[in-house]
Amino acid sequence: AVPLVVAVSTALAAQTGLLIRDRSAFERARNLEAVVFDKTGTLTEGRFGVTDIFPLDTIGEDELLRLAAAVESASEHPIARGVVRAAEERGLEVPGADTFQAIPGKGVEADVAGRTIRAVSPGYLDEQGIAVRNERVAAAGRQGKTVVYLLEGNTLLGAFALADIIRKESREAVDRLKGMGVRCMMLTGDNRSVAAWVAEELGLDEFFAEVLPTEKAERIADVARRYRVAMVGDGINDAPALVQADVGVAIGAGTDVAVESADIVLVRNDPRDVATIVTLSQKTYAKMV
Ligand code: ADP
Ligand code: MG
Repeated sequence: AVPLVVAVSTALAAQTGLLIRDRSAFERARNLEAVVFDKTGTLTEGRFGVTDIFPLDTIGEDELLRLAAAVESASEHPIARGVVRAAEERGLEVPGADTFQAIPGKGVEADVAGRTIRAVSPGYLDEQGIAVRNERVAAAGRQGKTVVYLLEGNTLLGAFALADIIRKESREAVDRLKGMGVRCMMLTGDNRSVAAWVAEELGLDEFFAEVLPTEKAERIADVARRYRVAMVGDGINDAPALVQADVGVAIGAGTDVAVESADIVLVRNDPRDVATIVTLSQKTYAKMV
């Protein structure tokens, strides 16, 4: 039988907007030592807007955006949505594309009117040994913007800077946890300078950047060797990491994968509720022997 205090707390948790799917994970939360947050869509809104367009070849801004939107049209990634929206806002006619291929954690590729075009991360360019020397693009990266490069074959056509915004609740979510002695960390596939900027803004203790979707669960396993850890994510690329954590928490009005992979779901979609999990778990299980 379920002890009465646990039953009462589960009802209380539901009122607070916590959906507890795994009761033993909820119990473990009272001794939490670290929380790892996903960046995009968890600490940030996950809505990217294009802020700058940098043609780096003989191409014009509109042509660059048209090609990028064509390549991104089949991608569900928040970056892709931002690029497509920017083209729509300029009233551009986006050409058709085919043979779409995701480059996981790095970008996308497609054929546009017989041209093979890739929209990729700065890390991908480094790997391919393609050097970029453009002070304006570098400055955008340092400001915490996400930079996407557009390539035709190995020729650089241009770049875009996109900005996401930090959710207004994130700072308090981190402050509350740190006040309880819980270390706050962030895990992201995005590049190091964006990650460093968000970490600085929020006062995070540690962060991991440029982590491929396939590596996220391993990183959590590493952290779990040092600390009793919760992972908070929206399920986009991070479902295996949620499963790996001592306490997996889904946010973002959850993708189905997130909900299925998580021990606890934040129904109100508010990162501050992670601290509530800890206090409620402590209250519930302190009363038990
Ligand atoms: P996050 O961990 O922040 O959710 P992802 O693992 O989804 O990030 O993506 C990591 C990086 O890969 C992005 O920051 C971006 O540089 C690149 N990327 C992924 N998908 C796309 C795309 N559709 N277009 C351009 N770049 C992309
Ligand atoms: Mg994500």
